[in-house]
Amino acid sequence: MSWEVVIGLEVHCQLRTRSKLFSPSPVSFGEGPNHSVTPLDLALPGTLPVLNGHAVELAIRAALATHCTVHERSSFARKNYFYPDLPKGYQISQYEEPLATGGYLELDSPGGESRRVRLTRIHMEEDAGKSIHDGGGTDTLIDLNRAGVPLIEIVSEPDLRSASDAAEYLRKLREIVRAVGASDADMEKGQFRCDANVSIRRPGAKLGTRTEIKNLNSFRFVEAAIHSEARRQAQVLERGGAIVQATLGYEPDQDRTFVMRTKENADDYRYFPDPDLIPLLIAATRIEAIRASLPELSEARARRYVAQLALAPSDAALIAPNAALSAWFEAAAKTHGGAQSVANWVLRDVLGALKERGAEIEQVKLAPAAFGALVKLVDNGVVTVKSARGLLAELLWTGGDPAALIAERGLAAVSDSGALEAVAGEVIAANAKAVAAFRAGDAKSLNFLMGQVMARTQGKADPAAVRQILSRKLEG
Ligand code: ADP
Ligand code: MG
Repeated sequence: MSWEVVIGLEVHCQLRTRSKLFSPSPVSFGEGPNHSVTPLDLALPGTLPVLNGHAVELAIRAALATHCTVHERSSFARKNYFYPDLPKGYQISQYEEPLATGGYLELDSPGGESRRVRLTRIHMEEDAGKSIHDGGGTDTLIDLNRAGVPLIEIVSEPDLRSASDAAEYLRKLREIVRAVGASDADMEKGQFRCDANVSIRRPGAKLGTRTEIKNLNSFRFVEAAIHSEARRQAQVLERGGAIVQATLGYEPDQDRTFVMRTKENADDYRYFPDPDLIPLLIAATRIEAIRASLPELSEARARRYVAQLALAPSDAALIAPNAALSAWFEAAAKTHGGAQSVANWVLRDVLGALKERGAEIEQVKLAPAAFGALVKLVDNGVVTVKSARGLLAELLWTGGDPAALIAERGLAAVSDSGALEAVAGEVIAANAKAVAAFRAGDAKSLNFLMGQVMARTQGKADPAAVRQILSRKLEG
């Protein structure tokens, strides 16, 4: 019988503010050590925290975008522990009254079944400083630039069942916090960090004892660490051992987890309400105003494309995650009138051209309305797919009016049967071998002959008309 992996994630996400959570010190990256600090960040006596209102706004945006309930009252607490990069001796966080609770995030489900991952809570807290042990010798160096940087911690329920689902959850979450402007969520800059709680069990059994792997700073490491830890736990249990609740680190080079400390409990932190900070009260009207200001998120957009524009769900899922591409597509679909046809062109030809150049939709010069008009000209048989492709490859980077160019260059499709009959006759006369092969049963020869007609018309012949005329002439 196999093991089921159970995962709950805690994500620390840096809010996109200019200054810290409780001090006017600028939030910076790459500055010299201890350049972004004020007396408050150094925990000098006589300093008092003042809450950054913009950080609250961003935290609310992230919470609403993940379907959480934002509480009109939350409060800050002190989480007490000693560490050299925490000069106050406590971290200001939220504990009993977090900013938000009870949201969810939806994972892709090819089969259509709902795959919701519930969010336990989102709370605000300050980051700690950085201890640097690699300065040579035995010294520990302290950099307090990060001390007091605003974070939200996003805690999931243990609803994830595989390492790849965990990675998908993180990608979705990162996309959401970016889309609402709450965070840049750049993992390399430590703006989006993940702790993974992992346990295993026999399917249907109650939850097993978990371990918590700290500070995973890439999607690849999250997946690898979960695999490695689940494997280790299975070995322990299969040998008749028991899992010890512990805080682990992950060593990528050796692909294994190691114990940092056996698990501390919440009680060990002696949480208590921070007497320097009054409760955070947020009016319901403000929460609703923030909700109204949120952009449409890709999940909702994909659903709208399917429901309102009748797009295939798989196509909607490919376009919707890119907001700029989505806007461009929608404008083109409006001009055209038929969204699916436009989506086909976007997914095949536009994305293909972008990929080839390593470009983004923002760099395209062709107006979406002109693109919609071009697709319409194809769909109405005014220009062939082949001609339109050639034109599009050029127009994307230059802009212009497709109809005018088609007229100017004489690219209009030839579907006039008189003209095509004549060309087809010429091609049959000039390719006796292929004609004979076709008549002897080689169906592929028809494609060759069609190609000859297309070549003689510079790709302007309507392929369906050509096929019909050739078939009739050859079989007649
Ligand atoms: P702490 O704050 O001490 O880490 P929490 O109870 O807040 O403890 O849980 C933290 C995370 O652990 C949550 O994301 C939760 O989903 C996850 N978790 C809890 N129990 C398990 C379990 N048995 N297996 C895997 N993850 C779990
Ligand atoms: Mg934890």
